[in-house]
Amino acid sequence: MSALSPDLPPTVTVVEHPLVRHKLTLLRDKRTPTADFRRIAREISLLMAYEVTRHLPIEDISIETPLETMEAPYLSGKKLCFAPILRAGMGLLDGMLDLVPSARVGHIGMYRNPQTLGPVEYYLKLPDDIAERLVIVIDPMLATGNSAAAAVGRLKEAGATQIRFVCLLAVPEGLERLTAEHPDIEVFTAAVDRGLDDHGYIRPGLGDAGDRLYGTK
Ligand code: URA
Repeated sequence: MSALSPDLPPTVTVVEHPLVRHKLTLLRDKRTPTADFRRIAREISLLMAYEVTRHLPIEDISIETPLETMEAPYLSGKKLCFAPILRAGMGLLDGMLDLVPSARVGHIGMYRNPQTLGPVEYYLKLPDDIAERLVIVIDPMLATGNSAAAAVGRLKEAGATQIRFVCLLAVPEGLERLTAEHPDIEVFTAAVDRGLDDHGYIRPGLGDAGDRLYGTK
């Protein structure tokens, strides 16, 4: 536990790297224009991917260097699957693929009913062998936790057994909701904010992540 992550469930990691904290401040700043927001989101997502993949299993394989044979570490098992929740999750995908280019990608189309704040699924396309892969669910904002919990539930229905969730901002109520329904998944966030306002926005937050990424407002 640290000053940035008081009283969080043990499955929650706050990524406290200075570059992540700096870039998150740039994303929060309302003066940051769309093009910069998109670029910085890509940069920060690469750093988040670095953290979420920190404990991937490794095995030794035999290779030849130009000088001799050696046993060298190599990622074992099937490659990851990134699963962005549309649309804002797409803003963090390319940075993660920069780091893990051979990862598979599953898309989860889900929007928030503005009245109920409940999730509505409109699209789902996952790799056939999802059960054999570590799945990293991506959504920049863990707000109510409703969409996140629903997305993880759909992945489990599809056979996924190893799931991690990555976001940039979370609030205590969203973390509680997600980890209560899915205590088996690990959550990685760049910060935990104060809470939600009456419209379900994270405060102080960064605004609507989709609108900031795509310039739709
Ligand atoms: N989704 C967003 O894009 N922003 C919020 O503050 C909450 C949910």
